[in-house]
Amino acid sequence: MANISDDDVDVEVLVIGAGVVGIYALYRAIEAGFSALSMEAGDGVGGVWYWNRYPAARFDSESYTYGYIFSKELFEEWRWKEEFATQPEIEGYLNHVVDRFGLRRHIRTGTRVVSALWEEAGNVWVVTTDRGDTLRARWVISATGGLSVPHYPEIEGLDDFRGEAHHTGAWPHTPLDFDGKRVAIIGNGPSGAQLLPAIVDDVEAVDLYQRTPTWTTPLNNAPIAGERHQWLSDHFDEIVAILTSSPSGFLHEPAGKFSTDDSPEERQAFYEKIWKSPGFAKLTANYYDMTTNREVNLEFCEFLADKIRTIVDDPMTAERLIPKDHLFGAKRPPFVANYFESFNKPNASLIALRETPIVRVDATGIDTTERHRDYDIIVYATGFDFGTGALTRMGVRGREGLDLHVDWADGPSDFAGFSAHLLPNFFFPGGPHGAGGGNYPRYSQDQVDWILDTLIYAREHGFDRFEPTAAHQDAWMTMVETLAPLSIFSAEHSHYYGANVEGKVRKFLLNPGGRAKLHEFLDEMSATHDFGGALTAVARVSV
Ligand SMILES: Cc1cc2nc3c(=O)[nH]c(=O)nc-3n(C[C@H](O)[C@H](O)[C@H](O)COP(=O)(O)OP(=O)(O)OC[C@H]3O[C@@H](n4cnc5c(N)ncnc54)[C@H](O)[C@@H]3O)c2cc1C
Repeated sequence: MANISDDDVDVEVLVIGAGVVGIYALYRAIEAGFSALSMEAGDGVGGVWYWNRYPAARFDSESYTYGYIFSKELFEEWRWKEEFATQPEIEGYLNHVVDRFGLRRHIRTGTRVVSALWEEAGNVWVVTTDRGDTLRARWVISATGGLSVPHYPEIEGLDDFRGEAHHTGAWPHTPLDFDGKRVAIIGNGPSGAQLLPAIVDDVEAVDLYQRTPTWTTPLNNAPIAGERHQWLSDHFDEIVAILTSSPSGFLHEPAGKFSTDDSPEERQAFYEKIWKSPGFAKLTANYYDMTTNREVNLEFCEFLADKIRTIVDDPMTAERLIPKDHLFGAKRPPFVANYFESFNKPNASLIALRETPIVRVDATGIDTTERHRDYDIIVYATGFDFGTGALTRMGVRGREGLDLHVDWADGPSDFAGFSAHLLPNFFFPGGPHGAGGGNYPRYSQDQVDWILDTLIYAREHGFDRFEPTAAHQDAWMTMVETLAPLSIFSAEHSHYYGANVEGKVRKFLLNPGGRAKLHEFLDEMSATHDFGGALTAVARVSV
């Protein structure tokens, strides 16, 4: 191995991406005294909250549990308006954080990283951007997001449409005028489900194109008033303790019981309570055995199906909206107010693609096997190339010629969901096998904290290099493959398996062991002085 010098790098820590994870990584790097810089493809910070600016885009994590918890002052001074905030407020919050902690001068927006090459001789990453700049960094933290590459459906003629067409994940900055327009929404996941009720009263007509029905349930949002703010401030330490230890990263209080603890009548009353609970509490505060006991899950699905039948006036539409191929929780459920109610409006229709698939898009609208429909606006609410999309498009080449795009063609292999063998000094918090399916920032904060603590430790102990060994990676991947079938998000046709992207290999992309397994693996690795061989020192040029 060659000798290296600190003069050989432009920056010690390069953070790629300025979403909720990248901003935190940058904050921690600067606070720790590293020279650090962030490059962000968008013209502003915020990540998904910069890109997804469609009407009614909002959290389904409670606002104050999603926001940062590293600073009590920040927690107290930012007064969220709603339990589940909308996109403008979230984007405002992330900009506030960037300014409050003096991070903006360390962020280059409008700068996309197009290649990252490991240079073994210099123990350095050589990174180039779409502006033609080159930068040498000792450590790279690629916080490029699991849901940052919009996925368009592979339908013939997408480019032929002469009206307006937008993906929810790449929404224009000038608000779209829906007034009196004929609109198609393709996709009924969380984004499509949020958009429909938000525009239905403005448009002339809206058709929602649905491939697979989802178990959508009400969000049950509420404004946050003075007393609630006070309560949140008063309980900051308690809240932090729960958020950093709960398996899901949420505050919801668990049900404390199994389905078998209740009689059939008590269960129905409990399901009513769950129906009225906020957001993800329908999963996290449900019976302990809801996701492991098929019978009770089927019973809950029947309860939900009855709700849909009660809400939706047209029985045929109601039946089409009821999932038949997966249990509650097997796919990521959307939490949205007034979704099913929207189909009772005379100008809203459901088009079930299983019955009448799209044949093509043309200049004026969409052809299905049934007929042609004219539109002014087509919205693609068709999700993202989840987990691997951004990383495999960034031209990452590691040691021994590893090309991430090729190496991950059969699915990603990694250690702890944020590092990989043959990718020295390269971290990707929030990457594949990173999140466990709960409140995202709490999972990624665990990762970022560990990464930065490791960089500080490396600096203090004379290490210049971190790379998990093949044995570390194999052990982690064995855990992923063993536990994946047991995960609650186990429907193989979900985006958590990459199934929404045609041709993408189906591999489980979450961490099925959750936070507990993550910490078990990380603690084991960091139990020895050199992290089980993951940390190494490189000879330095003496000056
Ligand atoms: C509409 C929507 C709502 C959501 N709601 C919730 C929620 O309520 N709760 C929850 O837990 N999760 C939610 N999520 C999941 C969400 O992905 C995470 O909460 C979180 O935003 C991920 O943060 P991140 O910083 O890892 O990635 P992102 O926010 O995606 O940020 C990554 C950034 O990296 C940039 N980037 C990518 N490639 C490059 C490159 N080559 N060069 C430079 N920059 C690059 C992108 O432009 C992007 O700004 C939601 C996602 C969406 C799309």
